[in-house]
Amino acid sequence: MKKGDRLLFSESGRLSAVGRKVACPLFCLLVGPSCSVLSSPGEPSVDSGAISVLRHEIQLAIDPTSHRMRGLDRVTIQVGRREVREFSVTLNKALVVAWVSSEGKLLPFYPRPLPPSAELDTRHAHQVVVRLDRPARAGETLIVDFDYAGEINDPPREPRHLRFVTPSETSGHIGPEGVYIGPETYWYPDVPNSLASYRVTATTPPGWEVIGQGGLVAHEARADATVATWDASACGFRSPEVSAEGRFDCPAEGLTLAAGKFVVVMRMSGNTEIATYFYPEDMELADEYLAAAAAYLDAYSRVLGPYPFPRFSIGENFFASGLGMPSYALLGAGSIRRHYTQPYALGHEIVHSWIGNHVFNDNGGNWAEGLTTYLANYYWHELKGDPQKAREERRMMLLSYAVYVPPDQDYPVVQFKRKSDQRDNAIGYNKAAMVFHMLRREIGDDRFFAALRTLVAEYGGRRIGWRELEALFTRVSSRDLRAFFARWIERAGAADVKAEADPDYHVFRRIPRRDLPPMLNLFVTDPRRVVVTPSLDSAAAPYRELAERVAKQEGVGLRSASEVGAAGQDLRDASVLLLGGPNAGSAYAWAKRGLPPGVDLRPDGFRVGGKDYQGSGMALLLSFRNPDDPTHVVSVFYGLSPEAVKPVARLLFFYGWNSYLVFENGAVIKRGDEPPRPAEGAPAGARSERHLRNIRQLTHGRQNAEAYFSFDGRSLIFQSTRDGRGCYQQYVMGLDGRDARMVSTGRGTTTCGYFLPGDRRVLFSSTHAKSPECPPKPSAQGRYLWSLDDYDIYTATLGGGDLVRLTATPGYDAEATIAPDGSRIVFTSVRDDDLDIYSMRLDGTDVKRLTSVAGYDGGPVFSPDSKRIAYRAHHPTDPAELARYRELLAQNLVEPSKLELFVMDADGGNQRQVTGNGAANFAPFFLPDGRRIIFSSNLHDPQRRTFHLFLIGDDGQGLEQVTAEGGFNSFPMFSPDGSKLVWVSDRGTKEKGEFNIFLADWAP
Ligand SMILES: [Zn+2]
Repeated sequence: MKKGDRLLFSESGRLSAVGRKVACPLFCLLVGPSCSVLSSPGEPSVDSGAISVLRHEIQLAIDPTSHRMRGLDRVTIQVGRREVREFSVTLNKALVVAWVSSEGKLLPFYPRPLPPSAELDTRHAHQVVVRLDRPARAGETLIVDFDYAGEINDPPREPRHLRFVTPSETSGHIGPEGVYIGPETYWYPDVPNSLASYRVTATTPPGWEVIGQGGLVAHEARADATVATWDASACGFRSPEVSAEGRFDCPAEGLTLAAGKFVVVMRMSGNTEIATYFYPEDMELADEYLAAAAAYLDAYSRVLGPYPFPRFSIGENFFASGLGMPSYALLGAGSIRRHYTQPYALGHEIVHSWIGNHVFNDNGGNWAEGLTTYLANYYWHELKGDPQKAREERRMMLLSYAVYVPPDQDYPVVQFKRKSDQRDNAIGYNKAAMVFHMLRREIGDDRFFAALRTLVAEYGGRRIGWRELEALFTRVSSRDLRAFFARWIERAGAADVKAEADPDYHVFRRIPRRDLPPMLNLFVTDPRRVVVTPSLDSAAAPYRELAERVAKQEGVGLRSASEVGAAGQDLRDASVLLLGGPNAGSAYAWAKRGLPPGVDLRPDGFRVGGKDYQGSGMALLLSFRNPDDPTHVVSVFYGLSPEAVKPVARLLFFYGWNSYLVFENGAVIKRGDEPPRPAEGAPAGARSERHLRNIRQLTHGRQNAEAYFSFDGRSLIFQSTRDGRGCYQQYVMGLDGRDARMVSTGRGTTTCGYFLPGDRRVLFSSTHAKSPECPPKPSAQGRYLWSLDDYDIYTATLGGGDLVRLTATPGYDAEATIAPDGSRIVFTSVRDDDLDIYSMRLDGTDVKRLTSVAGYDGGPVFSPDSKRIAYRAHHPTDPAELARYRELLAQNLVEPSKLELFVMDADGGNQRQVTGNGAANFAPFFLPDGRRIIFSSNLHDPQRRTFHLFLIGDDGQGLEQVTAEGGFNSFPMFSPDGSKLVWVSDRGTKEKGEFNIFLADWAP
């Protein structure tokens, strides 16, 4: 596919696009300054080395109505190594110089074209050559005044390419709608590559406000004008390191100003002023942005040392942008309204105030984007104590490299200068960020962060390259890092590490395409692509527009569904974007064979992630492997009405990273990933059990299940058919599997034992009050059914005595567990004619119903802090399915083929679904972190026959398989100190139908 013509953007801003201003991931926030290098090595720059600019003192008048500006710039120039008689500066061609003077004398000057250069804008800028009245010596400093004026009128244009969140394109604009002028506007006389300090006094009409860099040192709102003075060289404000005059002379790579009819809101955060410059209609968002900025400034001051500027401003731009300048960010109104306060957006810009806009890249490469991405987009999640999100961020970094950097198009990090496509983003931002992650792991946190603070303290206001960075890390860590930097910075490629050796994505490695979850981005990056449009369909128009847009891309074939037979001609060896779902006739009939289990598309709705969706506002983007060639994907985009299709179609390629996304009226309401198809010939889940160390089998023979720790972690209660029993009784044993003794009555059947606080009593559910015999087994009729026998919940001593009955309602009362703080019991009951979760005191009083949606809610278990409950549920919405559930329930049966995990508060509030894979997910238990859940599921098995343990975040992210052995693994529970896991498995069994209790040390 053609470079610079790529389609996609991630909605999370991970993919933004090309353009001189766009540099930061997703949402690029850097303009000129740290993101653009004005000239690259080896390329002759203008009058290279003849002079450089040390300082600008600018008097600027702006008249938005006439698009005009007038500047009076007192420029401090330093002569280079040779004597000069004349010098040149760059300036916008539309700005006419009235005079140039030095030491009170007018100097002759003339314009001349810029030499051709990839870095300079020869369309808008030229040179002004100034002749001195006497030779200036090498190293001499001169002060030269320029008086110039003209129109800056380049209204922002919509991006030319098929892009969705890129900034508009302008070289700078002055107009009634707003003002934006930066280094690429050439609005002040400059010398490329200068690092200068800036002070500007800007006069605008009354009611206008100017945003500048550094500190706002004077401001006057007069009846006829607003006059504001910004000192971009103000830095180190009120920090202990300030100079006697109260500030450092902090140079910058350029000066960008924005202006508009803003309402300014300012507050202090420590010694830093934080201000928003928003239009009146977005004023109510000011607090949110001020609070977010304060949090970032506070957190990163601790990581990187004091914030280098007196002020941080957030400006609302009159065109779409995400730009970061030293000490301010300029976001388009659309971004502001979309709450772009995330670490990858506002956080990233703020980190640039240290990295990239205070310590600068030199021509030896752009390391600042990688480090900023690491610290903002990634490390924020670690700072906030969210290891799940941090892991997901690492995974996404590897994903972007896997998707966008084919091995033959890879290049070393050191060659990255700025982003012009997704490949640059994957290497210069994401790979570089992972390299900093590996460096941190290599030298340790203390040295890594000490080096970063040293970096800011020693190199603030200076340029630095990878070489100096390597020297700095080497010095601070006292380690020889040459091999590390040579491997990761100077060479292309990734580590040759297998997925099982790095399940948490700590190593920069290439994830093979076949191991990626199916997603639209695999279509986008496939050299062989076909778009299929439905033949006849009321929604065809928005589909056709989308198809025509995509078909303009190189290498994309366009087919009408009527041309494609059910055998899938032309589709079998390509990635396919199938528009219209079931409306695409025989093309859909072909694709349908690849649908993941549990997914169904109908004319009036669809089912995905274990849920049914109906209604004219709904749309689905679903990706799965090509049924004839799993190296390609099929992405189906299907809306239930033209109105549902249209808003999503416009932004479809925003949504490239998930296997499915459900939209309602254009907004995402659900998303998820399908596990990648296991490699051909490899059994599902054939991976190492790296979390489980020192696995011990505690029981040997017959059926043993539901083993749960005592409060002191030294004993287990479990159910067993040992001793030749026909059904389960409860036993207690030590962690070595010895001294098992029965604690239940020996009559009826029992289930779900649990220790009571103090470990002197246990509870369990038993049917002995109904009958002393084992209850009959359900006739399976070819299906897997659980029977809901007439259990009630009892407590007893460890000797089996002093039996106390806690429940006495008819039917099933079981699945009781106890909060770690000993406050309450949760359990499942049919007392209200549905399977629901209840809680009660330890003595059986104060019963409260926690769930009430029709369907099965059960298997509740508390979080470590006793404040939340995880459970399993199935809530049929299809009337026929609900009727079937009720019919089985009336026979005291339940068919657990579809169960999803949920979490809720301990009082039943905030019920939220965690999984959505359409499989049977059950037996949840919280990890010691209280955020992740371990559970049993057949989600990996298309036949749904085998069950393994998995981990998942309570936000549904970060699915990870834990067990690989055996065909059944379930009922996991952590010891109270989190060091051990007990579970039930059929691994290594000698007889069919045998299950045993296993104990392992948990390796996080
Ligand atoms: Zn950036």
